[in-house]
Amino acid sequence: MEKELNIIIMGPPAAGKGTQSELIVKEYGIPHVSTGDMFRQAIAEKTPLGMEANTYISQGKLVPDEVTIGLVRERLAKADCQHGFLLDGFPRTVPQAEALSEILTSLGKKLTAVVLLVADDQELVDRISSRRVCVKCGASYSLKTKKPAVEGKCDNCGSDLILRNDDRPESFKSRLDDYHQKTLPLVDYYKKEGLVHEVDALQDIEGVFTSIRKVLD
Ligand code: AMP
Repeated sequence: MEKELNIIIMGPPAAGKGTQSELIVKEYGIPHVSTGDMFRQAIAEKTPLGMEANTYISQGKLVPDEVTIGLVRERLAKADCQHGFLLDGFPRTVPQAEALSEILTSLGKKLTAVVLLVADDQELVDRISSRRVCVKCGASYSLKTKKPAVEGKCDNCGSDLILRNDDRPESFKSRLDDYHQKTLPLVDYYKKEGLVHEVDALQDIEGVFTSIRKVLD
């Protein structure tokens, strides 16, 4: 059997985690476990989880740890994660990282690598103003670097493209602050385990992916 790839992709908001995740899961055939996508789907379906998560997400705040950890615990136990997974957007706090470690131990798994996308804040603020997402399927576009074929419409499903609520300037600033205060300490946590591989997120999409492939191959 091929080696299991249990990967975390980390980086500040708008560093390109979603775009690179799509490429990684295609290349390595592992499921994309994105807590942000899971929450957005729950919001679209108006489930109780979605309603609760939305009160935090629409303000650019983190969803409480106990909610998020429960969601990931259930997801990683599913059969499609048996031979690997790509975690995107989780863990985001030290308690989440500790919970992940406990979840993986209980499943008899270990992390293979943490891919850290690195970019400076000003560049991210510039990037975010041009990000658009599909209201229906969540596909992500950039008005500068990844334009849809038809203006304002999703290439996959033809639905409208919008600016995410949490990409508006005030919410985005709050997300960047959270990243610095709560998520960056995780980098040290994983560096101590020798798992962190830094990748320059300011290269073009292909360049970033080539760097990631070098790490994972
Ligand atoms: P993302 O698409 O990963 O940027 O996530 C969008 C939003 O979902 C975040 O701004 C948070 O409000 C929420 N969220 C996603 N993942 C987590 C997490 N691991 N912990 C807490 N909140 C999260």
